[in-house]
Amino acid sequence: MHKFHENRKYDKIPSMIQIRNTSRICLPVIFSLAVSLCVAGGNRPGRTQTINRLLERARQNIKKNKEETGLKLAMEARKMAVDQGETEKEAEACRFLAETWFDRDGNKALSFYNEEIHCRVKMGDKTGLAYCYNASGILLKRKGLYYDSLMDYYKSLRIAETIPDTKNRLRKISSAAYNIASLYDTFHFYHKSIHYYLLSLKCERQLNSRDGQYLVMSNMGITYRKLKEYGKAVSYTREALKFAKETGNTGEVIRITNNLAYFYLKAGKIKKSLALHQEALRLARTNHINEMLPYIYSGLGEIYFKLGKFKKALQNQKTALKLSKDDELRMLIYRNLTDVGLALHNLTDSTKYFQKYEKLMDKYYSPANFAKFETLMNAFEQDENDRQIQLLIKEKKIQRLWKNMLLTGLIAVLIFLLWMISRYRLKQQMNRELDQLARHDPLTGLSNRRDILEKLNIEYARCVRNQDSLTLCICDIDFFKSVNDSYGHQAGDYVLTRLAEIFRENLRETDISGRWGGEEFILVFSETDLTGAVDTVKKLKHRISETPFRFSGNKINVTLTFGIAQCNIGVSIDTCIRRADEALYRGKAAGRNQIVTA
Ligand code: GH3
Ligand code: MG
Ligand code: MG
Repeated sequence: MHKFHENRKYDKIPSMIQIRNTSRICLPVIFSLAVSLCVAGGNRPGRTQTINRLLERARQNIKKNKEETGLKLAMEARKMAVDQGETEKEAEACRFLAETWFDRDGNKALSFYNEEIHCRVKMGDKTGLAYCYNASGILLKRKGLYYDSLMDYYKSLRIAETIPDTKNRLRKISSAAYNIASLYDTFHFYHKSIHYYLLSLKCERQLNSRDGQYLVMSNMGITYRKLKEYGKAVSYTREALKFAKETGNTGEVIRITNNLAYFYLKAGKIKKSLALHQEALRLARTNHINEMLPYIYSGLGEIYFKLGKFKKALQNQKTALKLSKDDELRMLIYRNLTDVGLALHNLTDSTKYFQKYEKLMDKYYSPANFAKFETLMNAFEQDENDRQIQLLIKEKKIQRLWKNMLLTGLIAVLIFLLWMISRYRLKQQMNRELDQLARHDPLTGLSNRRDILEKLNIEYARCVRNQDSLTLCICDIDFFKSVNDSYGHQAGDYVLTRLAEIFRENLRETDISGRWGGEEFILVFSETDLTGAVDTVKKLKHRISETPFRFSGNKINVTLTFGIAQCNIGVSIDTCIRRADEALYRGKAAGRNQIVTA
């Protein structure tokens, strides 16, 4: 029971902050409402403008404390919006009504928020939805329906997370997380409470909101106090106090000063506590801020109780009770009054207060309420874990996707490279083939004139360098025209092909044979002088004479005349060829079928 007593004391503060938190949301909303009303009014004159005007008048009336008229006008605006099917206007009117009823009649406010939720769903307005669920959660908490309250906060948080606009998302996440944290704190789940406060604080820091930050930090101070982490409690509260002073919010300065005072009281630093309580009381009185007075008096009452000044304690607790509008605070005061009654031996009063205390306890903190709350919390945590797991799976899937893409990319590059290589090889092959074609005679396969000249040049340079002899021979088939004439062109081709074979078969590797033109051939003998060349040609001539040339059953008589010249150093290739040609000519003139040297 004692533990509970302590808890109630602190719980008064988050509960009060929540109300403030709501008004923190309300003001900008009202402003944005006014702006959007003006804009919308321009677009759709007539009915829309009438609705806007009605809402504006309603607002003016509320400001002037003409509540009844204000509410009536807003109801009219809402009815008109419903009749015209203007969902957005209906939502605006509902919000206005809900906010107006918020502190006056929670049930009415709840029903208007529910109506607004329908509209926001229709509009697909996530920011509006997150706001409604959060506000509804606050109202449900006030009614002591903690389970339903937590459910609405969760809804708000989940929706808030999906808001695309960063500022709105952060604001709504912060509000929902803040309220969840506060509720967790109420039910003694302090570590979880800190977790959600930190989420809220993170958002507020990103939003760079000082108000938001000190609200969260001052509550974190309270929760840390309950965890008996006094260092953190004091440092968060001091930081909160600093921010509150900077923003010039006296109400908050008073509240946080009172918190700090209470920490010192609990830590046994009575003098420090008394000084801070008195400071808070002085500030509240001079600034005419009355809402904190019951908390301060109750705190002072506890101090006097500890100091043994029971009458003063009784006096302060009674003042606190008179000023208190909050059930939770009242619960604490009844508990304190029970203790004071016992100390003053006034058992009648003590019993009376204790009964009142128990009644409120049963109302708000029945075991059934606790159990229900815990079930929902566990379900939510499970959901949270599932979500984390899903996120991890998604991440892994993405990683796998990347891996696959990388692999596919690599394979594609490899295929491309292989294709390039094969293309290159094919090209080289084709080039080689083309080169072969360009350098060789298609009929005989021997080097053509161009190839022979190139090779001859290389060979000539090499022989000059090595001071070797180089000899060449030009030969021409005798009376070849008559071969064609007598046996046909194909027979002539056969003779040419057969002769090429004989040259290839009978010459050395280093020697070169080629087709010089029509039925003329050229033979190059490297590292060979005239005598050597003559010997080789003789053998060749002999071989030809021995070879039977038969085509289509005809025996063809084939002889050649050879002209041989040695390429001496200082004599050009052209000259050498000319000399061989001249020798050949002389051989022809001298009767053919013979070898003539230059
Ligand atoms: P000579 O002994 O004076 O050299 O008499 P020839 O008949 O051999 O000389 P000529 O220049 O009068 O004739 C050469 C002939 O060679 C003419 C041409 O039709 C033939 N000829 C040239 N190239 C080819 C070829 O690739 N195939 C065939 N079948 N005949 C060819
Ligand atoms: Mg000829
Ligand atoms: Mg000839």
